[in-house]
Amino acid sequence: MDVENNKCGHDACGCMVSNGEDYCSSYCESAGDGDITDLKCDCGHSNCS
Ligand SMILES: [Zn+2]
Ligand SMILES: [Zn+2]
Repeated sequence: MDVENNKCGHDACGCMVSNGEDYCSSYCESAGDGDITDLKCDCGHSNCS
C-alpha cells in the first residue's frame, strides 16, 4: 500500500494527508461521512478554495 502522498478522502479536497490519516481536517472527515455534499472543500488550506 502506498503510504506517501495520500490524498484527502474528501473528493473535493486536493490536500495531501500524513501517513495513516484519511482526511486533512475535521471538515473533510465530516464530508467524507456523507453529511456534507459541497462541491468545494472548505478545510481552509491554501490549495482548496
Ligand atoms: Zn481541502
Ligand atoms: Zn481535505
